[in-house]
Amino acid sequence: SNGAARAGRSRNIIEKMEESDKNCVVFYGSQTGTAEDYASRLAKEGHSRFGLTTMVADLEDYDYDNLDKFPDDKLAVFVLATYGEGEPTDNAVEFYEFFGSDDISFSEGGSADDKPLANLKYVAFGLGNNTYEHYNSMVRNVDKYLTKLGATRLGAAGEGDDGAGTMEEDFLAWKEPMWVAVTEKMGLEEREAVYEPVFEITEKPELDADADEVYLGEPNKNHLEGAQKGPFNANNPFIAPIAESSELFTAKDRNCLHMEIDISGSKLSYTTGDHIAIWPTNPGKEVDRFLTIIGLAPKRHTVIAVKGLDSTAKVPFPSPTTYDAAVRYHMEICAPISRQFVSTIAQFAPNEEVKAEMTKLGSEKEYFHEKVADRNLNLAQLLEILSNSEPWEKIPFSLMIEGLLKIQPRYYSISSSSLVQKDKISITAVVESISRPGAPHIVKGVTTNYLLALKQKQHGEPDPDPHGLNYSITGPRNKYDGIHVPVHVRHSNFKLPSDPSKPIIMVGPGTGVAPFRAFVQERAAQAKAGQAVGKTVLFFGCRNKAEDFLYQHEWEEYKKDLGDNFVLHTAFSRDGPKKVYVQHQIEEWADELNKLLDQKAYFYVCGDAANMAREVNTLLGKIIAKHRNVSDAKGEEIVKAMRASNQYQEDVWS
Ligand code: FAD
Ligand code: NAP
Repeated sequence: SNGAARAGRSRNIIEKMEESDKNCVVFYGSQTGTAEDYASRLAKEGHSRFGLTTMVADLEDYDYDNLDKFPDDKLAVFVLATYGEGEPTDNAVEFYEFFGSDDISFSEGGSADDKPLANLKYVAFGLGNNTYEHYNSMVRNVDKYLTKLGATRLGAAGEGDDGAGTMEEDFLAWKEPMWVAVTEKMGLEEREAVYEPVFEITEKPELDADADEVYLGEPNKNHLEGAQKGPFNANNPFIAPIAESSELFTAKDRNCLHMEIDISGSKLSYTTGDHIAIWPTNPGKEVDRFLTIIGLAPKRHTVIAVKGLDSTAKVPFPSPTTYDAAVRYHMEICAPISRQFVSTIAQFAPNEEVKAEMTKLGSEKEYFHEKVADRNLNLAQLLEILSNSEPWEKIPFSLMIEGLLKIQPRYYSISSSSLVQKDKISITAVVESISRPGAPHIVKGVTTNYLLALKQKQHGEPDPDPHGLNYSITGPRNKYDGIHVPVHVRHSNFKLPSDPSKPIIMVGPGTGVAPFRAFVQERAAQAKAGQAVGKTVLFFGCRNKAEDFLYQHEWEEYKKDLGDNFVLHTAFSRDGPKKVYVQHQIEEWADELNKLLDQKAYFYVCGDAANMAREVNTLLGKIIAKHRNVSDAKGEEIVKAMRASNQYQEDVWS
């Protein structure tokens, strides 16, 4: 089910490099697009600065058993994100399994001891998050495997840390000495970097924007033709009707949405504990700002055909389309900007003064942080401020496609039970809106504000920011009636015990309660159907009982079916004189908790990865240690063992 095989392309990377005359391949294992972006930046830089002939490759598009024949005058680069609990990204699973296998074998048949990769020169960078236990384990393990097989690494294996918020700077600091090592080993010389576009953009004035063959936000050909065809997945989202939407908070300044997404007829299926991916649309206000500042607003609806200038360049959206549709549906225009991209764009500034300022921002880390990152500016906002709104007409559109991330779906923990409603998936999403002192704009989360706009539209409510969130839902042709959103399902290992009579303990403050609403809904239905259901204990925390107590009244309903087997412990952090968190309630309840753990209760944590989940983990170790009369270190080990046996499960994000 991989891209290359689907398209009938060769999975032989060596052949592919020969045939397209490349001497450097940059592989990426990417989940949210950052690793893919770094890969394409390295490929571009390797070419423009050092004259390497580079290509970017998705790890799932190639086979690896012929790397023993990788020529020694070529270079392989691996940019590898670690996902969740030390797992490979979805597109790197096969690659990782191949190298991690005990009986690995290559085309020439040599065993691991014969150093079959003696000819392979490689470079490696990992993207990780130190709040997770298996920090950067992907790059660490792959580096170990490759070295063991005889390959030679050039430069250090880099590690970027999203947890510390230093990913971009870690990457920039790693790559300079890496290039020195590469140029020395491969005998390259640095040259003056010249920008060469990756894509050719041809305007098609003869085509009307609403001509049948023009993509206006449709993800693929079937959608373009007005028909959805499964199987639906990350490459082919299902445009799902939103059956119901409602507000869960009573607070004036915060929103949390409950949405019921109808998947009937799609053949999509989920099981309780899975995630749903939602594909957002950019807000009209930011689309306008972006097109205006690069001077394309007047011809936003001009039809364009986009083509890779090189056979290895993948156009990241369907073509032909329009400037407007490409930006609105496919480019991550609201996100923070990278310092490297700022430095690349400098050469296209409208005048010398602006160019000098842009160059300074691109080259001085502290200055960039003070003026750009700490002020939460997105690209168009920065360009606007620097040029005083004079359009940057010299920026090639290709550079924007190359430099901005592809829009990414966002994941939500499904908050409904598949046993209770198999055709409807519910989510519980808090709307992101962040204002910082000194920042000229409020950052509004792209997906959650898009969902909020859909909810307002569904209920005929006024958009409180009418000049802001001018969402166009699926483009002018709007083939899918009603309120809808593109989705796919991602299966997870976060699961209830298969035997409902087993006790469970759940810890989910804030939106972390989402999957536990599903768990409790499921167990209430099982109890109602006469099944024996074990103790079902939920720790929930929020700011105020009156404002953000999620599903307050539903819990009472579930209690009717589950009786005393359902126990809800609440922690309201801002109602009293002192902060009360779920940890406090867990501590008070330690004796009961230990009793349930002795009966092999499953323990679940969901929500904030950075602080809450870590603190709960530590606390549990201490509680167990005290009860069993062992050291805290031993308690920690016991929790680790519980994780390994799935008795302790996490669904966390930061
Ligand atoms: P984005 O546009 O993605 O922005 C997110 C944040 O990035 C902003 O709040 C801001 O801090 C920062 N940011 C964005 N732009 C800028 C800028 N220009 N400058 C500086 N900073 C910026 N969320 C839920 O509400 N409920 C759930 O059940 C849930 N489950 C999840 C499960 C998993 C496995 C994962 C990985 C995440 C889950 N999330 C959940 C989080 C969710 O996926 C989204 O990350 C969240 O809703 C924000 O998405 P958004 O598009 O609205 O915001
Ligand atoms: P929320 O409403 O902000 O928080 C839910 C409850 O958790 C509140 O009572 C909050 O208390 C409490 N809380 C804060 N820190 C905690 C900790 N270390 N341990 C236990 N409880 C803690 O949460 P939300 O609405 O689900 O989240 C909103 C957004 O903020 C999400 O994107 C989430 O990922 C993010 N978030 C991040 C962090 C973080 O530190 N990285 C923490 C929470 C949420 P007080 O707010 O009164 O302290």
